[in-house]
Amino acid sequence: MVGKTWRALVGLVGATVLSGIAAFAEVHWDYEGTDGPKHWGSLDPAFAACASGTEQSPVDLTGAQESDLSSLAFDYTPSPITISNNGHTIQVDYAPGSGIVLDGARYELLQFHFHHVSEHAVDGVRFPLELHLVHRNNSGALAVVGVLFEAGGANEALKPLWSHLPAKAGPATIVAGEVDATALLPKRRTTWRYMGSLTTPPCTDGVSWIVMTEPVALSAEQIEAFGAIFPNNSRPVQPLNGRVLRRDGEA
Ligand SMILES: [Zn+2]
Repeated sequence: MVGKTWRALVGLVGATVLSGIAAFAEVHWDYEGTDGPKHWGSLDPAFAACASGTEQSPVDLTGAQESDLSSLAFDYTPSPITISNNGHTIQVDYAPGSGIVLDGARYELLQFHFHHVSEHAVDGVRFPLELHLVHRNNSGALAVVGVLFEAGGANEALKPLWSHLPAKAGPATIVAGEVDATALLPKRRTTWRYMGSLTTPPCTDGVSWIVMTEPVALSAEQIEAFGAIFPNNSRPVQPLNGRVLRRDGEA
């Protein structure tokens, strides 16, 4: 989960030049080295949950209980493509009007982005890529839908994005075409569910996680294209600390 970094930076550059004070400068974090995941919690007081949180994401999804899960409906329509490399991932900001209805509550789709390799694991195994569709309800609560990708045939739904992957960090740009989030989902709509957190600083908890149990395919070339920009933007799995994982029963 990543967001807002560049918009915040763009606003700050001007203010910093004028005042000479970088009071709200973004705290640098990374996936390796001294600013890597093991150190996120101490990089800034606002990131404390990365170290002290007891319901963190991602997790290994093995051992989920089959359950009658609360209702989930997808209500996505195509969106123009507003794409950015924010320094941590490739993010697509989604046009208003799409969302999910989870247990009767509507959550608006704000943006989606990718992690290479996947953040969630299954039986200890990670997938080549993971998509996070980030949603928020009227109360500010977040629900993230994760989609795991496996190597296979070329993914048509990714093509309009992959032809515009920004190699360098920078502000969002609108590119030709549109993207349909529905087409990024697997056909089978069964899910894993658990309560977790943002997987990037500030690692805020209280996030409703919904990970699709059926992976979707993308080609080796598509994996390489993303991996060339982000060789590793995946947080290690976090302890469950007694949390219950649920999944849809096999119908
Ligand atoms: Zn994410």
